[in-house]
Amino acid sequence: MIISIASGKGGTGKTLVATSLALSLKDGHRVVLLDCDVEAPNDHIFLKPDVTGSEPVNILVPKVAGDKCTYCGRCAEVCAYNAIAVLSDRVLTFPELCHGCGACSYLCPEDAISEEPRETGVVEWGRSDGVEFVQGKLTVGEAMAPPVIRKVKEHAGNGGTVIIDVPPGTSCPVVEAVKGSDFCLLVTEPTPFGLNDLALAVETVRKLDIPCGVVLNRAGAGDARVEEYCRKENIPILLTIPLDAEIARLYSRGIPLVEGLPEWKGSFLGLVDRVKVLLDERNRNLKR
Ligand code: SF4
Ligand code: SF4
Repeated sequence: MIISIASGKGGTGKTLVATSLALSLKDGHRVVLLDCDVEAPNDHIFLKPDVTGSEPVNILVPKVAGDKCTYCGRCAEVCAYNAIAVLSDRVLTFPELCHGCGACSYLCPEDAISEEPRETGVVEWGRSDGVEFVQGKLTVGEAMAPPVIRKVKEHAGNGGTVIIDVPPGTSCPVVEAVKGSDFCLLVTEPTPFGLNDLALAVETVRKLDIPCGVVLNRAGAGDARVEEYCRKENIPILLTIPLDAEIARLYSRGIPLVEGLPEWKGSFLGLVDRVKVLLDERNRNLKR
């Protein structure tokens, strides 16, 4: 089972949920935590894994052979990202804008474009207290998170439960991280910002046809509009975590919630049981 942990906005408690879920499930069970929040991965602060391996992430960017190029402009026409420009006597490439799609080299009529690797990040893996751990790190200054996220997901392996810590927001990196999940947990808080960004996140996962449920963090801090929204949209609230000074203290010291307050483990296991029931129901309905 693949469960992704997403949120429309940053700072709602994704890391808290992802790490505590992984640590709650690990006994007698294969659990892999993939930190796909590659611009700011921070699950490692809580899990403190022994990193045993790493590999660079490259994308292929174009390299133009001046002696073959006729400056026809075809490559610039087909590039959807404005990463290549053709002047009367030269071709300019902008590797930092390139998505590595290969269209320019494939469509160049003179076969003047070759591809060369460009490092945009790194993937690291290891173990922490019975949890298999993989994280991606996007190189500072790079904008292309999806290739790093794809590489992290390649390390998921087979079997057990895979937990994906998704980047915040609702843009391409989120879609890349969430797609292929069996279920998406949306972590939010009971504030107007939380509600606004939850609604955007719900829209995204529904477009991907991934069932979702909500984890309401810092409950008691705001109003009841998130609950009203969930009722209206028929989205189950699967776990409520109160606004609590002790939980905040543990978080600020890099201690996972279920480690500092082990009584929470049952709540996270109950959350997964509810996800399984929802998935069974959904499968039954799809078969009808
Ligand atoms: S498509 Fe090929 S030949 Fe045409 S401008 Fe680009 S690199 Fe040069
Ligand atoms: S590989 Fe794709 S994104 Fe990069 S320059 Fe060529 S067409 Fe543009």
